[in-house]
Amino acid sequence: MNCKNVIREISDYIDGDLDLSVRQELERHLEHCTECKIVVDQTRMTVQLFCDSRPIELPGDVKSRLHDALRRNFGVKGH
Ligand SMILES: [Zn+2]
Repeated sequence: MNCKNVIREISDYIDGDLDLSVRQELERHLEHCTECKIVVDQTRMTVQLFCDSRPIELPGDVKSRLHDALRRNFGVKGH
């Protein structure tokens, strides 16, 4: 496995969705590749930050503008 493979599999790796064999290969790569290890650590931290943060309530006008845009672009019905 090379750095490109690691980057491609990184989100599945962090989610724990990788096959065992792929995960082992990835971890073996991380043992000798500091750069990928940093990327994995930072991505994991970012994911944790997202999970910890409360859903943000959008201000009303932003919400209605968003709905307008969705309706126009995708034909999605607003509430
Ligand atoms: Zn690497």
